[in-house]
Amino acid sequence: MSDPLFIDECLSLALVAKAHSRGHHATHVAFMGRLGEQDWDLMPFLLKENFVLVTNNGEEFKRRYANLDLHPGLIIIVPGGIGKELQVELFDRALEVFESMDDLVNKVMSVDIDGNVTIADLPDPNACQICKAIPCICGNRRLKFP
Ligand SMILES: [Zn+2]
Repeated sequence: MSDPLFIDECLSLALVAKAHSRGHHATHVAFMGRLGEQDWDLMPFLLKENFVLVTNNGEEFKRRYANLDLHPGLIIIVPGGIGKELQVELFDRALEVFESMDDLVNKVMSVDIDGNVTIADLPDPNACQICKAIPCICGNRRLKFP
């Protein structure tokens, strides 16, 4: 487990310090001169540099990552509008699990308000390969599996 972490704009800079204190390489969008760009404009950079994205904007990124064949992973701090201390606490829980894994490739880790961490495949193997929806909304899946 060595992939670096990239903290999204929506989350506190304190998460970078937390990651460093646990021995991870981590950076924040504010350190990259990329503040104000649309979040998803960062995706080519993240993929190229193998950054695991840590974000609060889970739904948007889950949708976008579901369209990728290969990505280094996504960590979602699920609750919105929480203070810095709770962000750090929940991130700490996520890192604990992250450290026990080889990598987070093609997976999404979510941590909820109570600090519960769940991991799922992304894209979901049950999703339609064309429209990425469960159940399929484009008709492709229906043709294959009548
Ligand atoms: Zn479909």
